[in-house]
Formats: sequence, C-alpha cells, structure tokens
Amino acid sequence: LNEEASAKAAAASANNGGPTIFDKIIAREIPSSVVYEDDKVLAFRDIDPQAPVHVLVIPKFRDGLTQLGKINCILSMGLKALFWNDFDDIWVLESGADGQHVMAEARHAEILGHLLYAAKLVAKKEGIADGFRVVINSGPEACQSVYHLHLHILGGRQMKWPPG
Ligand code: C5P
Repeated sequence: LNEEASAKAAAASANNGGPTIFDKIIAREIPSSVVYEDDKVLAFRDIDPQAPVHVLVIPKFRDGLTQLGKINCILSMGLKALFWNDFDDIWVLESGADGQHVMAEARHAEILGHLLYAAKLVAKKEGIADGFRVVINSGPEACQSVYHLHLHILGGRQMKWPPG
C-alpha cells in the first residue's frame, strides 16, 4: 500500500503544467529510439520497458512546447498549419484546467484517431499486430507520470487481465 501511495504522490507531483521530458524528445534535445514518426505523432521505445515491446506514441503538439519546437512543428506541417482551425486549441490536448485530465473534445478527434492509427502501424512494424495492448494512464490514480498525452503500446508476451 505504501508503494501505491508513493507512486500516486510521485505521479501527482509530476504535473506542473510546464514542458515535459517528451517535449525534449520531440525537439531532439534528448535522444530516443524512434520507431515511427510523421507530421503529427512520434513513437519511441519506453526507457523502462514493461514488455519485450514497449513503445510510446505521443502527439507532437501540446501546451508548453518550446518556441523552437513549435516553429519546427509548423515548418513540418507546412501550409496545412495555416488552414487548421483548431491549431491553437490542440496545444491543450494534454492537461486540463485541473491539470489532471486529457481534455479530449470533438475538435481533437482527428489527432486522437491518428494516435490509434499510428499505434497499429507500430504494432505491425514491431511484429506484435496479432496481440498487443494500448494503455493511456490518465491522472494520479492511474499513476500517470509524464503529463504529455501518450499511448503505451505493449506486446511480445502474454498479457494478464485485469491490469494492476
Ligand atoms: O503513463 P506514464 O505517464 O506513467 O508513463 C510515462 C512513461 O514514460 C513511463 O513508462 C516511462 O518509462 C517513460 N519515459 C521514457 N523516457 C523518459 C521518461 C519517461 O520512456 N525519458
């Protein structure tokens, strides 16, 4: 129980609403093992794998991205950025006003769908398309530790249910 409580506390304190370690990974300020990338998402291997295959898929756009990161994203999107009505709003895809929940709204449907599509591409690429798990930890009670929306893609071993 103590372990659970400290995991929760660590997760809660991890959310300060600012840039996260994943922004640095997107900006290539810290290295990662990239598995898949396109103009909207980046997929890279989890540094602390919980299965033979453990890849994270993240949107490249979120609140708190560095200025350079934003400029890079806009450049990589090209003209599309100018016509994307929801461009500003997508920055708040991660933490909500309470800082704890994914603010998924109708306008986020495209990027959220694209994340799942990318998850399937990653699973195929990694040879686990026949059986894999997609997890989103949302908020302290789920032990979310990085407040930048991310999908965990896990596979390569027999999964158990329910998850811990
Ligand atoms: O869902 P949660 O927020 O707990 O997951 C964050 C994940 O990010 C962890 O699985 C952790 O191992 C991973 N991570 C990483 N590279 C970092 C920091 C965290 O892969 N530099």
